[in-house]
Amino acid sequence: MADTIRIKGEKPLRIKQIDPSPCSVECPLGTNVKAYVSLITAGRFGEALEEVRRTNPFPGICGRVCPHPCEDQCLRGDIDEPVAIAALKRFIADYELRRGAIPRFERLNRKQGTIAVIGSGPAGLTCAADLAREGYRVQIFEALAVPGGMMAVGIPPYRLPRDILRAEIAAIEALGVEIKLNIRVDGRPRLDDLARKFDAVFIATGAQKPRTLGIPGESEVQHGLVNWIPLLREVALGRGQKPGDHVLIVGGGNTAVDCARVALRLESESVQILYRRSREEMPAYREEIAGAEEEGITINFLTAPVRLLAEKGKLVGVECVRMRLGNRDRSGRRRPIPIQNSQFVFECDAIIPAIGQELDPSFLRGTHNLRISKEHLLVVDRATMATKRKGVFAGGDAVTGPASVVEAIAAGHRAARSIDRYINGLPLKSPQKGVRARLGELTLEIPPPPKRGRVEDAQISAEERQNSFDEIDHGLTEAQALTEAERCMRCGLCLECTTCVEVCDGRQVIVKPAGLKATEMLRRPEMLLRVPPDVHQRIAAQGVASLQYRDRQYEATVFTARINEHLCRGCGLCEEICGYRAVQVLYRGDGVFTARVDEDTCRGCGTCVAVCPSGAIDQSYFTSQRINHLVAATLQRHRGSPPVVVFACRWGVPRKIGSSRMPSGIIRVMCTGRLVGGDILKAFEKGAAGVLVIGCTSDDCHYGFGSLAAKENLKRVSDLLSLLGFEPKRLRVSTIPTDGEAELEDMVRGFLEDIEKQSMSPIGEGKWSE
Ligand code: FAD
Repeated sequence: MADTIRIKGEKPLRIKQIDPSPCSVECPLGTNVKAYVSLITAGRFGEALEEVRRTNPFPGICGRVCPHPCEDQCLRGDIDEPVAIAALKRFIADYELRRGAIPRFERLNRKQGTIAVIGSGPAGLTCAADLAREGYRVQIFEALAVPGGMMAVGIPPYRLPRDILRAEIAAIEALGVEIKLNIRVDGRPRLDDLARKFDAVFIATGAQKPRTLGIPGESEVQHGLVNWIPLLREVALGRGQKPGDHVLIVGGGNTAVDCARVALRLESESVQILYRRSREEMPAYREEIAGAEEEGITINFLTAPVRLLAEKGKLVGVECVRMRLGNRDRSGRRRPIPIQNSQFVFECDAIIPAIGQELDPSFLRGTHNLRISKEHLLVVDRATMATKRKGVFAGGDAVTGPASVVEAIAAGHRAARSIDRYINGLPLKSPQKGVRARLGELTLEIPPPPKRGRVEDAQISAEERQNSFDEIDHGLTEAQALTEAERCMRCGLCLECTTCVEVCDGRQVIVKPAGLKATEMLRRPEMLLRVPPDVHQRIAAQGVASLQYRDRQYEATVFTARINEHLCRGCGLCEEICGYRAVQVLYRGDGVFTARVDEDTCRGCGTCVAVCPSGAIDQSYFTSQRINHLVAATLQRHRGSPPVVVFACRWGVPRKIGSSRMPSGIIRVMCTGRLVGGDILKAFEKGAAGVLVIGCTSDDCHYGFGSLAAKENLKRVSDLLSLLGFEPKRLRVSTIPTDGEAELEDMVRGFLEDIEKQSMSPIGEGKWSE
């Protein structure tokens, strides 16, 4: 058994895990804020959006309504003001929509199974999207006539325009998620029916039952006690009606402020909020409170209602009491205490209690094994979102009580992971992923940047707002977004941009969990890891090294060309092509020459693989077997017509590019010079109608000589196609576009269109033997 190598300073296995910045740590989704802000700085808006979409299916929505805990942690705030992270997220989402692009998600797998989701709020939609991307069939049952939950019928349109909501939900529907509207899971179907019919059920019904005031007089009021849920819902559906002329709203959260601003827009004459604590304790967002006050809404702090006054069932006033603040309660806020003899009356004809909401458990009548807490919420294992009932999961506001969109999204992701594991018979708690790097003793001292306040976007004026449900914030312009993104200090040592993965010329080793079989390796559990040269040398010397990372064992092998000496004829073509002089043909005696690879010098480009006439060379990571496997998987995932296979150089076309909008999956090889004729012919044999190879120019080639090798090699394949009686145009060799993702996308699309125009159908299996 080889020695265990400890990488000095416990370097991370995956670069992404180095020293995350506080903004990412604070985000419930762990969104890589630094990465997308960096990409914005570079004007790479599409890639920035893709980075956000890795964790968040609703960038346009969260860019508008997220409480942005990331900004509270932003270290720039210690210097002047936090970076406007949410506004930047909104900018990139709007930028995409303005260009007419339709948000899309890529399908990752084709797994079998059916899932019912109850409720189409952010928790339900996220869970559905994740599972649909895995290939499952997902149906959402939604009680209302519109999807989106509180995003659609709670948050008013002046904060969240409905076209943004519709576009982001449409992207989820485009994955094949079916949203069945106007179906309340209660009567038919019932939860039990769904649990029987589907492989798993996710309950994401939110908290739909408003809390009552619980004060005298409440039961006597027949007119004027307004339920905010239908009030906001009707506004969202364009049918809102004035709740009263003189309206009081009770509560200090966003719902209370939204109700007040909505009442004002519905032309109530006076609108006031009663809040029993002080301004500092008010949980509504600062900007919402400020906006409401600007519009003329009065907030009565330290005031609580104690009795409703009615005449003939009609509300005429509310008796209130003044409060003072006492000691802190469990929530950390100071407890409000009534001041004796401070009662007074507010005259009003409508009161809207907006003091919280809870789960409406009526739909659970008669079902088993679902526990409701004393706070009237569903009880789940918070790590897996599993209820006590097998196959039934729950998340979002139904579990936490009123929270936020971003928290509901996080719950949806968590539930989807568990449902995936449940359907595949795996334990619900997944093993701890990766490890976080220690940064050793490295200390950096960087002087703080000069003070520069954040860029604020324009808003419509308070007067204009009062009678309008138009969106208040205009969002950042492109120039503003670029300026604002520059303010990010890129906290933490690593930018997490992962560009280094693509450009690093370091030595690579293949790392896989110890004991994994070769056949299992096809499914990509191993990864390429760059290590310091001394570690590379030691691994090369040992052949297979055991790598200890924290308490887990990995096996590491160097990433090189490998020669099968039995097949090698010693022709020397490999020696000739290798620009690193890593291959040498040696005399073995008895008239036998064979090639030998110096593993220490070899960079694993694979050009020698392509020139070897006897098929004696393969790469240790990009084996032909692996490439064939990737080709088959790409063709399987392919949607629309015609099916094509795209190979690209992984140095020139980094992983981040081309994921979601690309019309075809891209197989990234170490160098296009590595592609052998067999790989390409195999793609046709497996059903491709065309093969596009996108490589570097000779000036840009990472290895210097790989692109030239590719050119010659692929010319030979093209000739071979003609010889076999197939159109040589089925194989196109292009160079990587200089203008980034959009041009690359056009290139792939152009190829697809040409293949289609010329009616080149897949050559397919069987044709080869005709
Ligand atoms: P919901 O969004 O409530 O969705 C649940 C869905 O389930 C609903 O569509 C409902 O009709 C459906 N449903 C319920 N029962 C059934 C059933 N039996 N059968 C079928 N369907 C059913 N968060 C922010 O981050 N920022 C904000 O600015 C913000 N402002 C808000 C303003 C208001 C007025 C409100 C009410 C909430 C606000 N929130 C805000 C909170 C946020 O909207 C919620 O936390 C989030 O929507 C919860 O998501 P969810 O998926 O758990 O549930």
